[in-house]
Amino acid sequence: MRVVICGGGAIGASIAYFLSRRGAEVVVVERAGIANAASGKSGGFLALDWCDGTPVEALARRSFALHASLAEELADDFGEWGYRRMTTFGAMASAESSLRDFSGGRGLNWLSEDVVVYRQLGTTETTAQVHPGLYTEALMRAAEAHGAKRRDGEVTDLLSRDGTAIGVAVDGEDIAADAVVIAMGPWSILSSAWLPMPAVFGLKGHSLVFDTGDKVPAEALFLECQDEDGSVHSPEVFPRRDGTTYVCGISSQSPLPVDPAQVGPDDGALERLEAICRRLSPVLADADILARQACFRPVTQDGLPLIGPVSGLAGAYAATGHSVWGILNAPATGEAMAELILNGASTLDLSAFDPGRLRAFDAAELG
Ligand SMILES: Cc1cc2nc3c(=O)[nH]c(=O)nc-3n(C[C@H](O)[C@H](O)[C@H](O)COP(=O)(O)OP(=O)(O)OC[C@H]3O[C@@H](n4cnc5c(N)ncnc54)[C@H](O)[C@@H]3O)c2cc1C
Repeated sequence: MRVVICGGGAIGASIAYFLSRRGAEVVVVERAGIANAASGKSGGFLALDWCDGTPVEALARRSFALHASLAEELADDFGEWGYRRMTTFGAMASAESSLRDFSGGRGLNWLSEDVVVYRQLGTTETTAQVHPGLYTEALMRAAEAHGAKRRDGEVTDLLSRDGTAIGVAVDGEDIAADAVVIAMGPWSILSSAWLPMPAVFGLKGHSLVFDTGDKVPAEALFLECQDEDGSVHSPEVFPRRDGTTYVCGISSQSPLPVDPAQVGPDDGALERLEAICRRLSPVLADADILARQACFRPVTQDGLPLIGPVSGLAGAYAATGHSVWGILNAPATGEAMAELILNGASTLDLSAFDPGRLRAFDAAELG
């Protein structure tokens, strides 16, 4: 079976890997470079049980286990992607002395004195991380080792005949397929012009990558703090195995540019994030900044991803809208999509993610 995957983010690359491992002929079409968007610029934080009690619980738990096994199986051959277990804390920048320090005095002395750790959110049993861009590229290389092809170019249409998907148009050329997967992150909204897809929106986040060497231990932090103008922020801090520390924060509802390569920061957002970081930690205050970036996470109307067949067009599938957990949930999405496309059903129950639960977006609404 020949499957064309539209989009080379963490979701597209993971589907490509699991499909090609099972013998499918796979083509990944990517318009702006593998992992150029959120899958290269996000936190890569992973949690076993933070989705418990929601419809995403089984997907997240299976993904958390797959992240560990994929790192063990593939990293030696396809380039390691910084997978490691972490301890995770909630902290607050506050002069309030009644807050207890839950750090147990371990490691967190790299933070400023007024940052208090008030809660342990995860242990090395329940929280972990990857470098998302390196994960995505390695999974794509592993897929290629099983015969998958990457194709640079923009998908501009989905081709169909008698109610069945038969391929895609890429920069004016038709590519035939038995199945087509829409995995274009927030740009999946554009596919609403080609097939009856529910809406997918983009929510922007900004991030900085600091060169901190070995000064920050493997401890993730979810912080609450105030800007100089009094506005409250919730930066997330993820020190990585490669000696960098990733910090994201300052979300916005800025419009999604049609071309993924045109995504840039909002005016002043990175400067505000940098000022917050420099106040939070003397280590961050002294560190060089290696990357200043912004990206959009894909969200749906009900907050749940779209994973499954698109109703009304046989052979068309969606795998998008993973919101804040797209890196965590990429492996089990890939595994389940491969089973669904090749066997007609997946081991994991995908009914909560059925794209048919939401009405199809009318592309005319884009204006
Ligand atoms: C600031 C921030 C921090 C985050 N932190 C975390 C985290 O710690 N843990 C976690 O699990 N998740 C996190 N996320 C969420 C996660 O990054 C996303 O859910 C995930 O990356 C989405 O992956 P994707 O493959 O669906 O989309 P994307 O990464 O957006 O990839 C879509 C791809 O499709 C391509 N494309 C678009 N249009 C076309 C076209 N017409 N033809 C061909 N290709 C096309 C794009 O170029 C892009 O490469 C974070 C998100 C943000 C914004």
